[in-house]
Order: sequence, then structure tokens, then C-alpha cells
Amino acid sequence: MSQIAVIGTGYVGLVSGALLSDFGHTVTCVDVDENKINGLKNGVIPIFEPGLEPIVKNNYYYKRLRFTTDIRSAVQNNDIIFIAVGTPPAEDGSADLQYVLSVAGDIATHMNGYKVIVNKSTVPVGTGQKVKAAVQAILSGRGVDYPFDVVSNPEFLREGSAVHDFMHPDRVVIGAESQRAFHTMKEVYRVLYINETPFVETNIETAEMIKYASNAFLAMKITFINEVANVCEKVGADVQMVARAMGRDGRISPKFLHAGPGFGGSCFPKDTRALAKIARDCGEAMTLVEATVAANERQKLKMVEKIVGALGDLHNKTLAILGVTFKPNTDDLREAPSLVILPELVKRGARLKVYDPEGRKEGSWRFASIKDSLTWCESAYEALANTDATVILTEWNEFRNLDFDRYKEIGAGEYFFDLRNIYDKKSMLEKGFKYYGVGV
Ligand code: NAD
Repeated sequence: MSQIAVIGTGYVGLVSGALLSDFGHTVTCVDVDENKINGLKNGVIPIFEPGLEPIVKNNYYYKRLRFTTDIRSAVQNNDIIFIAVGTPPAEDGSADLQYVLSVAGDIATHMNGYKVIVNKSTVPVGTGQKVKAAVQAILSGRGVDYPFDVVSNPEFLREGSAVHDFMHPDRVVIGAESQRAFHTMKEVYRVLYINETPFVETNIETAEMIKYASNAFLAMKITFINEVANVCEKVGADVQMVARAMGRDGRISPKFLHAGPGFGGSCFPKDTRALAKIARDCGEAMTLVEATVAANERQKLKMVEKIVGALGDLHNKTLAILGVTFKPNTDDLREAPSLVILPELVKRGARLKVYDPEGRKEGSWRFASIKDSLTWCESAYEALANTDATVILTEWNEFRNLDFDRYKEIGAGEYFFDLRNIYDKKSMLEKGFKYYGVGV
């Protein structure tokens, strides 16, 4: 059993902390956000993540999981310190490391013995060494010489299935510089190790690169099929069929081949931009990644063109918007396509009736600038009532089987923009809809 502190209690920190405590370790989750920590102590889970709540509550009850804002005691009482704070994009696309380095400084300020400092945040290659230098400088300033290891342990969980992903990772990547650190990390993940999860043991720089290369590749794959979809529309091909056939090829795989309105979320947009910047900074060009970033921006606007192309002038038109989160099963709107598409529709005169099962809280402030043209609804059918068109932006399960008899009774429009291809075009046309998918 290890004593672990996790600094940063967001999507990654809370999921990691809760599941590491479920593995039997004693885990202290730290955050600067007092409201979040007080809420957690009272059983309020700050994010929507399926399956997380009972794990947090159970481990908190048995005192394997604690919450605090006191980083000093967390550092002093634990040997393994995970850094899981945000690395948002800076103006130039690079990852903003201020939070990671500030935590590194806190750790060094309070260190009282050997520590393993594990970076779980997604960070540019070289950050592990920066953390090491920052910690060493503060220790020297304090006149102490405690030994420590820095480890890179990138996280691959997906929001919406984070609990499952943390417990069943395709691989655990550990970048470190000493056998002691590798050994400590294997103890942390012993539950996975004995279940034969593949472990990749490498140096810190390689571990940091694995995360960016993986995310950029997946973002590129989505963008590839989106561009194929755009061509399919012009030439009368069906991207769904193309993707299905492509995916049968074991070298390609069917995953991440779903055409749609462009990728969003807290990772792919910022990580592609950051990797492109890392490459530029060292005199290399990652042209595929640069093109992916640009094509993804275009894709969101293409969705607006698709809607305007079909409906014409949007003044005096009311659109039902189903889904605003960047994917289903999360409340996260970071870089969601909706953040571009909704304001563009409003700019063209549309009124929007919006429903998302979990997106309203974050959406309320994110869409503040268009609030006069936007009405939040409590259900899909409330949003659909008396509208000219439906736009499906996020493929929540509850949108997959709409009751089309009720749909017509409540005066929902015949125009149906299925931007996630969750309905069959042929049967929608047979039902009398003016149906528009992506690449079908
Ligand atoms: P988040 O914004 O949800 O959470 C970050 C948390 O850190 C916040 O609660 C914030 O209050 C806290 N924090 C900031 N500064 C702090 C400090 N000095 N001390 C203590 N707490 C502090 O971020 P996230 O989505 O969990 O992402 C964290 C990192 O993990 C990022 O680098 C991200 O790229 C990476 N990542 C995210 C995902 C994902 O799906 N969200 C998946 C894999 C990797």
C-alpha cells in the first residue's frame, strides 16, 4: 500500500485519486479550489463522470481517500506526489506550464524526505527536466539535499468512460531515470500489473512524447475521415460505408473513424497545437498536425454552411439544438464544436432552443454572449417543440431513438441536421424528413 498525494482534483486528478484509493492506496487529493474540496468532503462530485460518485464516496467513507487544500501536509505525509493540474493552451499554442511549475515549487518548498514526483498532466517534452531543475533549485535555496525522482506517467483516460479506462488501460507508460522510481510506480499500479496490463518503461522524454503523439494521431484520424466525408457528399459516396470497410482492415481499425462536426474537448485541440509548436520550436515541421488543426476549424464552420445552405436566411428561424458538450457522458464543453457553431448560427439570425443532459451548467456561462437568442430547455422534446429544424451536435444516447410521432405532434421542423450520423439517412428520408448527415 502506498501513500499518495494527487495535486489538482479535476477530471484527471479526481478520477486517478479515487481509483488509486480503490486499488487500496491511501490517497490525499489536493486542490486550490476551496469550494471544490469542501463539496467533495460533503459528497458533492464536481464533474459528471459515469460511475465515479460511488467510488469517491465509498473510499472517502473508509478514509482511503481524503480531500484538502493544504498542500504542505499532503507533501509531507506522502511519498508519491502526482501532479494533475491543467496545462491549458497559451496564446502561441504551447502548453501553459505555470500550474505544473507552481506545484513543483510547492512540493520542493515542503519536501521533508525522498519523494517521487509523478507528472500526470500532459506536458511538452522537456517538462520533466524543468520540474527536476525547479525542485532542485528550491531545495538548494533551502540548504537541504533530499533525494527525489521525477516520473512522467501520462494519462490516456477518456472523459465519459474515465473510470473504465483508468481500470482497463491499453498500456501504462512510465518514464523515469531510476530503478527505485520504476519500482515505486509498479507498486502504485500493482493491481493493473498483475492483470497483465502492458507497461512501457522508458525515459521521461519518450513518455512525454508518447502522450502527444497518441493524441495527435487520433485527432488526425478523426480529421481524415471528416475530410473524406466532405468529399463523399460531393461525389455521392457514403462515408459510413467507407469507414466501415476501412475499419475492417486491421492496420486501420474502426475506432475514431466517425465523421462529424470536428473534434473538441480538453485534450485534442490543445495537444495538437502544442505538438505543432514543439516541432516548430526545434526546427521541424509536423505538417500533418498543422493541417489537422486547420481542417478541424474548417469542419466546424462547414456545419454552419450546411445548415445555412439548406435553410437559407436564418432570421425568424428557430433551431432545436440537441447536445452542446464535446462528447456524450460528460458535462465538459472545453473546445466543443458547439462553442463555434452556436454563435455562428445566432450571428446569422437564428433563435436556438437548446437541450443537453449535462451541459447546461457550463453552457450557461460559455454561451453568455448569445444568451438573448438562446433558450435552455429541460428535455429534448421541449427543445424540439415549435421549431424549424433539429441539429444534433452531441450523440447522447437519449437522442438516438427520438419518438418521431411525438416529434411531429409538437411541431418540430422537417429539417434534420444529424451532425453525428446517428440516424439512417434512407429511413429518415422515407419518414419525410429533409435529412442532412455528415458525408452521407
Ligand atoms: P481540470 O482543469 O479539470 O483540473 C485541474 C485542477 O487543478 C483544477 O481543479 C484546479 O483548481 C487545480 N489546480 C490548479 N492549480 C493548482 C495548484 N497550484 N494546486 C492545486 N490544484 C491546482 O484539468 P483536467 O482535465 O483534469 O486535466 C489535467 C491534465 O491532464 C491536463 O494536462 C490535461 O491535458 C491532462 N489530461 C486530461 C484528460 C481529460 O480527459 N480531461 C485526459 C488525459 C490527460
